[in-house]
This record gives sequence, structure tokens and C-alpha cells, in this order.
Amino acid sequence: MPTTEKTAHPDSGAQVLPMRVGHGYDLHRLEPLAPAGAGRPMVLGGVRFEHDRGPVGHSDGDALLHAVTDALLGALGEPDIGQLFPDTAPENDGRDSREFLAEAVRRVVSSGYAIGNLDCTVVLERPKMGPVKETMRNTLAELLGVPASRVNLKGKTHEKVDAVGEGRAVEVHVVALLMRAGEA
Ligand code: MG
Repeated sequence: MPTTEKTAHPDSGAQVLPMRVGHGYDLHRLEPLAPAGAGRPMVLGGVRFEHDRGPVGHSDGDALLHAVTDALLGALGEPDIGQLFPDTAPENDGRDSREFLAEAVRRVVSSGYAIGNLDCTVVLERPKMGPVKETMRNTLAELLGVPASRVNLKGKTHEKVDAVGEGRAVEVHVVALLMRAGEA
């Protein structure tokens, strides 16, 4: 069992522990693509989908990357994605969400942690994730700098009920485990 250090993290005040767990959640409305609606091109986990609807968002609207980013930041006890990258800031307009994730990964490393594993659930009626699920998993692992075996990705529908089930939104849940560097 690794030694538990009681030192508070300088940025967040969060206690330095052998392991820290984080949860991330995100939801984006899906609308017809602009100019018919406010939808941006559909992107999830850094992978583009051909679809007639896409996420409404200030950035590129990648709900999976947003939830992963928040899970990592949450594990560190740091401010969430909306605080770090406000949707009122012009530089975040249409911004590639891979940049948000890269900043979270940078903070994980600079805090002395490494990514243990992630479990991600995407709730989406359409488009179907199945054909590109492995590509999404591999892309996510690459962005995180970990082997794909540390990233799990599950796709579910919302059984055609409520906004997600009616194809008007995408919802993502992520749990991430961080381990002290050298122990992951
Ligand atoms: Mg978001």
C-alpha cells in the first residue's frame, strides 16, 4: 500500500492521496446542422459523425471530451471545464475540445498523478456509435496518452423516451481513476 501524504495540493487544496476518483457528466442539445438549426458538426470523443443533427455549444460541443475533462479535473479537485474555459470567452467559440482535455491531462501530470482507468457511458439515440466505437476508444486513449485497455466506452440508447431518446440530446457519464505517478 503506497504511503498517503497529507500535503494539500497547492492549487485546489485537495488532499494528495494514492488514488483519486472523479466523475464527469455532460449533455448537449442536438439540433439540425447550421444554417437550418444551431447544430455544429457531430463530434464525439474527437471523432466526426455524418449526421443531420449536431451539438449546440459554444465550443465544438464534444460531450464525451467535456465529460472526460470534467472527470479528470474533478478527481484533482480543480475547477470544472466551464470555469476554466467560460462559454462567454470569444477564444472558446467553436474551439476544438481536444484542447480542453489536453489541459486537464497536463494538470493531472503536473499534480503528480497518472491516469489509472476510465469508464465512459454515452447515451445517444442517433447516430449509432457501434461502427466507430473502437475508433472513439482508441482516439480517446491516444488523447489521454494511455493504452486503450485503460479506456472503456459503452454506448446506450434512452429507449426513445425524453429528449435523449427522441434524438434531441446526447448525454455522457464518465468515471476516472487517477493514481500517484509511478504507481499507475
Ligand atoms: Mg459540454
